[in-house]
Formats: sequence, structure tokens, C-alpha cells
Amino acid sequence: MLRSEFLDLLLDSIRGRNAATLHTKKKCTRLVDIGDKVRLEFADSTSATADLVIGADGIHSSVRSQFAFDNPRYSGKIVYRGLVSIEDIQPWWHLSTYAVSWVGKDKHLLVFPISENKLLNVVAFVSVEESELGDFQESWVAVGNMKEVVSSFQEFEPHARRILELMPERPRAGAGQAIEDGYILGRALQDYLKSQSDDLGRWMQAYQTLRLPRAQRAQRTSREAGEVYELQGEGLKGKTFDECMPELRNRLKDRMNWVWLEDIDVMYEKLATEMRGQ
Ligand SMILES: Cc1cc2nc3c(=O)[nH]c(=O)nc-3n(C[C@H](O)[C@H](O)[C@H](O)COP(=O)(O)OP(=O)(O)OC[C@H]3O[C@@H](n4cnc5c(N)ncnc54)[C@H](O)[C@@H]3O)c2cc1C
Repeated sequence: MLRSEFLDLLLDSIRGRNAATLHTKKKCTRLVDIGDKVRLEFADSTSATADLVIGADGIHSSVRSQFAFDNPRYSGKIVYRGLVSIEDIQPWWHLSTYAVSWVGKDKHLLVFPISENKLLNVVAFVSVEESELGDFQESWVAVGNMKEVVSSFQEFEPHARRILELMPERPRAGAGQAIEDGYILGRALQDYLKSQSDDLGRWMQAYQTLRLPRAQRAQRTSREAGEVYELQGEGLKGKTFDECMPELRNRLKDRMNWVWLEDIDVMYEKLATEMRGQ
């Protein structure tokens, strides 16, 4: 699904139920603890007070930076993203599926259909040493150089390269764990409100207890998979492409099972039942 489609869906649902007021163009610059409430200060010199502030302001969160001093670190990979119309590639597409991974030494390419099979989401990963990045900065909106991307994949088979050549030079994105976070946070807040108690902190702690291990596991296993797809890491480094393939298959075939099979509602319900009983 396109991020914009998902945001529209959320917005329509909020508007349909008149569930919240959305204030846009508000850049939060500071939070101030004022006893039993928090004051939010914004760049436009306005402010607001709240019982609870949820800092969902992304990887360079200014809210988080007031409480934690751990900056994000470069992962060793640059990811190029793009969308290609499936209608445009249909005449020459050679496989029975549009969900395909091409793997290679220090780079890999992933495509899958989104937006009701109208668009192909293209994700091209390239390992680049931090020392070679120059003044390149992590960003949602850095525009990649398509010639550079295509030349990075020049030894890949022609269909893979053709897909890359069709990628427009503009960025797009999606989200995974953040959506689960929002969902469980919503359930915990709902339970807190239903309980008509003043133990907001306890319900927020329950959210954290439930979400942190799963989110950290997603982060850890994604990093490991990134290495496997690029024939790096223990057991693969130094081997030929053909030698790596059986190992690759073994390591990747059930990789996502825990994400899909663990039922986060069941996990939440178990914890919430304990909380309600206390
Ligand atoms: C190019 C790209 C492609 C990606 N593709 C995928 C993918 O296919 N699948 C996947 O699961 N994940 C993907 N991700 C990762 C995913 O987008 C993020 O993990 C996810 O968006 C994080 O959600 P978030 O709510 O924490 O932050 P964001 O989605 O970054 O949202 C933060 C919001 O806070 C706002 N904000 C920032 N600072 C302030 C402030 N001071 N005051 C007020 N508001 C502020 C921002 O404008 C933004 O709207 C991709 C990321 C990128 C960059």
C-alpha cells in the first residue's frame, strides 16, 4: 500500500468519527514538565498543554532528543526506492509473480506489487562504507542518481536493470513496526480510559513492555537479513555465489514467520488481562 493511501485511510476514519482535531504545520520544539501536565512549545511561538505527549516524530525525533542522547547510526547500506507502473512492464515481464528478490555480493534488489497491483515497489540496496559517503545525509527526500544506481547493478540480469531504469528520481516510503506501535498504543489508551483510573503511566509502561522486544527483534533480524541478501556475514563471506545459494535459502525461507504468526492482539490481551486484574 502507498503511504499516502494509508494516511488518507487513517484521516478519513478519524474525520468520519470526529475522533480528533488535527493541527498541521506545527513543529514541536520543546516539552516542558509543568507538574501533572506537559506543555508543548511550537516553532510558530504557540503552545499547548496535554496529559500525555506521544512523540511520533520520526527517526530524528526532537521530542526523543530531550530525553535520550543516542543518535541513529548509519547501517552501512544506502536504499534507493521507486515506483514503477505494472502496466508498463507487463509486456516484457518474464516471471509468474511480481514479488521478486535478486541477490548479489554487496547489493540486492527487491520488488513487490502494491496499490491493488497497479504499482511495483522497487527497493535497491547497496552496501557503501561510511567513509565513502562524503556529504551524503540520511533523509526521506534525498534524490538518487539513477545512472549511479543502474551502474551499481550492471552485473544483474537484464530484467532487474530494466526495472531500475524505469524508476523515477523521487522518493516514497512505507512503514511496518510503527503501525503496530500505533495500534497497541491505541488499545492501551482505550483500556486506560475505560478503567477511569489515574494510572496512565502503568498502561504506557505495559505498551512499552509489549512492544520493545518485538520492535528490537524486527530491527535485529532485518539487519541480519540485509547481510544475508548481500552474501555477507558469517558462513557466506568469501564464498562464491553458487556456494552461498543453499545457505541463503535456509536462512531466508522462514525469516518472516515470527512477524506474521505472532498474534499481537493475543499478546496484548494477555498483558491487559493481567493489568485489569491488578
Ligand atoms: C525511503 C523510505 C522507504 C521506506 N520503506 C519502508 C517500507 O517499505 N516498509 C516499512 O515498513 N518501512 C519503510 N520505511 C521506514 C518507515 O517509513 C519508517 O520506519 C516509519 O515511517 C517510521 O514511522 P514514524 O511514525 O516513527 O515516523 P515518520 O513516519 O517519519 O513520521 C514522523 C512524522 O513526524 C513529523 N515531525 C518530525 N519532526 C517533528 C516535530 N518537531 N514536530 C512535529 N512533527 C514532526 C514528520 O513530519 C512526520 O510526519 C521506509 C523509510 C524510508 C525513508
